[in-house]
Amino acid sequence: MKITIHGGAREIGGSCIGVQTEDCKVALDYGTKFEDSSSNNFPEDFDAVIISHAHLDHSGRLLSLSKKKPVIVGSKITREVTVALLQDMVKVQSQNDYNYPYFKHNANAIREHWWVRDYVALPGMTIKLHPAGHVAGARMTSIHSEDKAVLYTGDFCVHDSEILEGCNTKTLPKKPDVLIAESTYGGKVRSPRNELVDEFFMQILSAMERKGNVLIPTFAFHRSQEMAKRIDDAMKDGVLPRYNVYTISNLANKITDYFNENKECFTKKIQRQKQPFNYSHVKHLYRTGQIKEPAVVICTSGFGHAGASLSLLKDWAEDENNSVLLTSGYLPPDSPLKSAKEERRFRNNGDEISVKAEIEQIELSGHADQLELVQMVEKLKPKRTILVHGDIEQAQALSEEIEEMTEVCIPEKGESIAI
Ligand SMILES: [Zn+2]
Repeated sequence: MKITIHGGAREIGGSCIGVQTEDCKVALDYGTKFEDSSSNNFPEDFDAVIISHAHLDHSGRLLSLSKKKPVIVGSKITREVTVALLQDMVKVQSQNDYNYPYFKHNANAIREHWWVRDYVALPGMTIKLHPAGHVAGARMTSIHSEDKAVLYTGDFCVHDSEILEGCNTKTLPKKPDVLIAESTYGGKVRSPRNELVDEFFMQILSAMERKGNVLIPTFAFHRSQEMAKRIDDAMKDGVLPRYNVYTISNLANKITDYFNENKECFTKKIQRQKQPFNYSHVKHLYRTGQIKEPAVVICTSGFGHAGASLSLLKDWAEDENNSVLLTSGYLPPDSPLKSAKEERRFRNNGDEISVKAEIEQIELSGHADQLELVQMVEKLKPKRTILVHGDIEQAQALSEEIEEMTEVCIPEKGESIAI
């Protein structure tokens, strides 16, 4: 068996790992990088492609397989959301680039050769998917072939969030020959989630007391719904006072419908509710012009580089009563939010905008932190561990914590490992 890291080596973005035996060749994820969604330098001759979850850095390059049509395997909600995100990507990219090579029908075609399964048998290889936490429908992948066992975590999370259960490490196959693990927060230990959620509410509350606006840039998939649900419940329970709260993102709104239709993906508490993602105090708007200020607005893009979050960042940055709440730990180097946070100014269309609004980062992440990653290795006892999906510093910090328990490898892009 040969494992090749085609993307997502020593970095976040463009995840793709090839697993090849005498009889078959599969890809674990097929993702894009943030700044590059049309080129493809991954092999295209896979028999099957397993998609761990619907974030585009794990699924965004599937369009380039629309001619070869390998079998795609993943959960139902991963399929629905991936197709919706790819359709949106085609729409945005073709507006910016007349020569963009893909069309809506290429995105729709992905659905047709997608197998919604948790178990697949290929020539000489069996594949099983296991819930991974992280986002709705996320799966880990275990592969058995040639007497070898491989477990790929994808992005995962052990602790529960308000709407999603963390992965159950007890049900994962023990002592795999190879564990391929994400290492996004390999060097970071986070505060317990309830403390972070309290801090999140305190930040919103103090902006509300100033009658300020709060901008919460998020991803359309999962984080948007999780955030809206959290604020809606807090208003129902009297943790937060009534205030104008909005979501602005038609894509997020469409995904919210999938969430209501697929309640089985979520916690038991969510499953008992009739339409859990129909909010009482959070309203969906179509455009920023409909906002009644002061307001809390949950909107895309998550990195503040486009859409409603960029336009509100421009409008609200210069008022010290306003506040921007970042809930992702990672910001791309060229995102306006990163310079707004670190340099207290950002550039837009040649203008320089100075930032007086508060910018707070509270990492309500869906990724395992260092403790969870180390515990995973302690429980599973893999012979060898390959670290992917993390900057080299994060991967090295994790490597130092686990290298006495397992043989660690932090491969470069393109590197192959014989098992
Ligand atoms: Zn992810």
